[in-house]
Parts: sequence; C-alpha cells; structure tokens
Amino acid sequence: MKKIPMKTPLVEMDGDEMTRIIWQQIKDILLDPFVDLKTEYFDLGLEHRNATDDQITVDAAKRTRELGVAVKCATITPNAQRMDEYDLKEMWKSPNGTIRAILDGTVFRAPIMVNNISPFVSSWEKPITIARHAYGDVYKNFEILIEKPCKAELLVTTEDGKTTKQLIHDFEGSGVLMGMHNTDQSIASFARACFEYALDLKQDLWFATKDTISKIYDHRFKDVFAEIYEKEYAGQFEEAGIEYFYTLIDDAVARIMRSEGGMLWACKNYDGDVMSDMIASACGSLAMMTSVLVSPDGVYEYEAAHGTVTRHYYRYLKGEKTSTNPMATIFAWTGALRKRGELDQISELCQFADQVEKAALDSIEEGIVTGDLKNLVTNDDVRVVNTEEFLKEIAARLA
Ligand code: NAP
Ligand code: MG
Repeated sequence: MKKIPMKTPLVEMDGDEMTRIIWQQIKDILLDPFVDLKTEYFDLGLEHRNATDDQITVDAAKRTRELGVAVKCATITPNAQRMDEYDLKEMWKSPNGTIRAILDGTVFRAPIMVNNISPFVSSWEKPITIARHAYGDVYKNFEILIEKPCKAELLVTTEDGKTTKQLIHDFEGSGVLMGMHNTDQSIASFARACFEYALDLKQDLWFATKDTISKIYDHRFKDVFAEIYEKEYAGQFEEAGIEYFYTLIDDAVARIMRSEGGMLWACKNYDGDVMSDMIASACGSLAMMTSVLVSPDGVYEYEAAHGTVTRHYYRYLKGEKTSTNPMATIFAWTGALRKRGELDQISELCQFADQVEKAALDSIEEGIVTGDLKNLVTNDDVRVVNTEEFLKEIAARLA
C-alpha cells in the first residue's frame, strides 16, 4: 500500500511518562504504516528540558510559529518532588505556559463523544467546546491581607505623572483586598481567536461575562468582542450560517444546561478554568478531552487535556501492561494532521485523520475500551483491553 505523502512537517513535541510511551505506540501502530510522516522532532521530555536549560521548549514554540501546526505530548510540570526525582537544575516552568506566551494563544477544549457514553446532562447531543482566555484577571492578581482598620484606594499614575485615586473601601477591621487587570490587546487576541475558531468549527460562538455588576471591567470584554465582531467577522459569520451570541454568565450557564450542545463557549479566564472541568466531568472522563491552542494569526498546537498519567507509568515501569486511554492523544495527532492537510491541500491526509477518528470511535462504541471507560459505557458486552491492544483494534479497522 502506498503511504499518504506530506509536504510541510509538523512540529512534534514529545513528552513524559505514560503519555511518552503511548506517543511512540500511536506512531508505530496507527500512523507510520499509513502516512509518510514528516515531523520536526523536539524532545520536551523533562530530562532533555533540563539538559537544554529549557531552551528546547522555546525552540519548539518558535518553530511552531514558522511551520503553523504542532502536536504535543503531555509533559511534567516540575514541583519539589520532581526536582529530586529528575535531579533538576531548576524548577522549570510549565511548558504549556511557555508555549502559550510565545504563541499568544487561546486554548480550546472539547470532549470526544461516543454514543455509548451518555453525558450526565441528558440534553447534550453534541460536544461543547470551551475557549478559555489564558491571560490576566484573578490569575495575575495582587492580594493584600488587611489586618487592621485602613482606607484602601485604587491609584493610577499616567506617564506624565497625573494621578487618579478611587476609594475601594474604608476598612473598620480586618479583611482582604485584591487588584487585578487585563489589557485590550489580550482581550482582542482572545476575541479574534474565538471568532476564527468558530468559523473553523462552523459552530455558533457564545460569550458571557458579568457586565451588569462589573460595569467597566467585564463590560470592556463585551465591547471589545462586539467591536471586532462588527468590523471583521459579521459578514463571514453570516456567510457560514453561524451566530455570535452574547449574554450574562449566569444566563449562559442556565442555557447551556438546557441546550443540545454543539457550540463554542468563550469564557473569561476563571470561568473557563471552572467550566472546562465541568464539561469534562459531565461527559465522562478527562481521558476523552482534547485541547488545542490557537494563536490569533492562525497557528495551531494540538494536545490532550490530561497529564502524563504518572500512576500508570509507575506500573508500566514494573513491567505491567497498562490500560491507559490513548484517545485524546490520538485526536491530538489527527487534529494536527487534518490541519496540515487543509493548509497544504492534501485531501488524503484529511481523510486519513477522519478515518482514524472514526475507527477509534467505532472501537469504543463496539465495547472495546480501556479501563477508565469500563463503567461508563452502556454496552452489554464490554472488553477491556490494554493500550497496545486498543491501538491495534483501531489499526485493524483502518487497514
Ligand atoms: P493526569 O496525568 O491527567 O492523571 C490523573 C489521573 O486521571 C490518572 O492517575 C488517571 O486515573 C486518570 N487519567 C488521566 N488521563 C488518563 C488516561 N489517558 N487514561 C486513563 N486514565 C487517565 O494528572 P496528574 O496525575 O495530576 O499529573 C501527572 C503529571 O502530568 C504531572 O507531572 C503534571 O505536571 C502533568 N500535567 C501535564 C499536563 C500537560 O502537559 N498538558 C496537564 C496536566 C498535568 P487513575 O490513576 O485513577 O487510573
Ligand atoms: Mg481547572
């Protein structure tokens, strides 16, 4: 059989622990036999990040800017325990944070849905994709513990030395205080990434804040979205037959719960943190959640939403064959290959991505699953397989 050709390479970012093992298995069993795989390989495994003083992460992100599409394996974000375990020179920063800063991107997360796992919300028929703003608000705040009576004020000094002052609160006793911010530039990047991605998915875009209470801060988000929509996207949305819809966050939550899904839901940083975990849990398993980072200029980095599945890896090191779910990592690869196929106009590559996804979904829907899904699927006959067997089931359907 002739392998499907590629033109431009993908940026391939390898990672850590169990997902690093699965990474190689996916390539060996599902991709290499069918595709003449072209990638530029960056080893983001913790050992190599440490050896290169984390330069490898920066290089991989910069190369992604140039080539346009990357696929990333889950990576360890070091903590104190990892410092000892890997004998690290420094507690290197989260690779995802570094990559996100370089690509100035927005993260989109969506559950992979199958017909034999029912979401806990029974009306949801189609996946809900969450877009999370990845800058500012409470994640870049400044907090003070107030211990005794005091007057707290907001002070702004402009470049020419002019100041404005605003009373926040006259404290009569102890309490807490917080300052936070966002920038028009970051909000605009977020908005554009959402509008672009909605066009890509051909799904309605919902956005919600609490602008009735936060009349300047949240209202600014609403205005920036509205301005960019009117100027740059209204026509394209109409052409694509999709809608941009703004509402209050509480109204959005109530409507989402009664909806059939199938929309892109843009969330401010904190809302996105909370809502993406809600969607993942409501749809069954973190192992079935995909994630893609999209920059405002249309660069894509695909990955799984879960981590390196450390507990399974320690069992693997003892010689056990684990039943770790590779679905989200498979979908990271198919997402990247499909996007590469679209950009390079290789329709066979796009079709291949579709076929791999269908074969993987078929396997689960027929009741062949990894351990995490055992109690979630509704089939009468369920066969729990290890990761390698699961991948071979998919490959058999493909061939
Ligand atoms: P995790 O790797 O997502 O795993 C947490 C638990 O969820 C696992 O122990 C497992 O439960 C279950 N699980 C997750 N993915 C699964 C899969 N594919 N198949 C089956 N079960 C799965 O999160 P963590 O243990 O908190 O973090 C481990 C490492 O990953 C950390 O070093 C963290 O820094 C890193 N991390 C990286 C990323 C990223 O690169 N994007 C994201 C998150 C975390 P059972 O053990 O009960 O089977
Ligand atoms: Mg969270």
